Amino acid sequence: MEWKPAYKAANSLEAHSLKGMLESQGIGVRLSGEALNGAVGELPADQTGVTLWVEEYRLTLAKEHLARYESQVSSVWLCTQCGEENEGSFEICWQCGEERVETRH
Ligand SMILES: [Zn+2]
Repeated sequence: MEWKPAYKAANSLEAHSLKGMLESQGIGVRLSGEALNGAVGELPADQTGVTLWVEEYRLTLAKEHLARYESQVSSVWLCTQCGEENEGSFEICWQCGEERVETRH
């Protein structure tokens, strides 16, 4: 079984969130490059991100989901409660904790 790099996440939080998203679509994910406790100093400087690996035959599908994720993340949304601007990756308002309401498609 061939595993291919599908996405380079900026950090392990994003990597795990993406992993969960892909797994909910039935796509198996492996992570690499994640800094382990005590091993940080041993990682090369260009290996600070976390790479998501998927099986080769799932790669196209995985990339479609990832592209959709990226387009969501890059868009900001306004809180219906307090009007605060929130980044697309947030599901609740960072200011008041109100849940995100999808107003456009
Ligand atoms: Zn708010």
